[in-house]
Amino acid sequence: MVGILITAGPTREYLDDVRYLSNGSSGRMGCALAAAALASGHAVTLVLGPAEVSPPAGVELVNVVSAEQMQAAATQAFARADVAIAAAAVADWRPAQRHAGKPARSGDSMQLPLVCNPDIVAGLAASKGARVVVGFALESTAAGLPAAIARGRDKLERKRLDLVVVNLHDAIGSDHSEVVLCYADGRDEALPRQDKAATAARIVAAAVELLRPGRTS
Ligand code: C5P
Repeated sequence: MVGILITAGPTREYLDDVRYLSNGSSGRMGCALAAAALASGHAVTLVLGPAEVSPPAGVELVNVVSAEQMQAAATQAFARADVAIAAAAVADWRPAQRHAGKPARSGDSMQLPLVCNPDIVAGLAASKGARVVVGFALESTAAGLPAAIARGRDKLERKRLDLVVVNLHDAIGSDHSEVVLCYADGRDEALPRQDKAATAARIVAAAVELLRPGRTS
């Protein structure tokens, strides 16, 4: 049995008690990964932002709202995990300040100072040791598949990942997915266009295969 941490869903970064910045993300792929990992007999901790879909029964669920909360929960859970799969669509920025209540509108425009959120998966990978860290890269195929893979590989190197799942842009919002698995050793594995459950099962298996023998219980 392998201990698998999965981050999933969007994060919300509140400007005040009502308004927030976020990303469009249903959480479907992250929950499919959690279901696939459970089906393979693994122990799953799912750190989930405000998603549209319900998590599968049987995971250890940690609900979070903001990127900072997701980072704290993921860092804590990673201490007990062998593998981390970061499927969350983390908001890149948060408002520099959160106001109480719902401040009234005034004037025709306003400035909103933002600060960068931490890169959660890069933080996990920085202290991974023999553990395996997997990230996602959402890339457009407009410039061609090789360019999309090159951009995904750039993320793999910058964030020190073991595997990056290059998710081709035109599959987003669909029940199907079309991804290429880019491994740190240089291999690329294109998965067929198939439903997200089948894609999730292959991603989990690929991540577990990367663990060195003897690493798991
Ligand atoms: O750099 P980009 O946002 O495209 O990277 C996507 C990958 O990094 C995903 O695996 C996502 O979950 C992860 N990520 C993260 N924390 C962030 C931004 C992205 O863990 N602040």
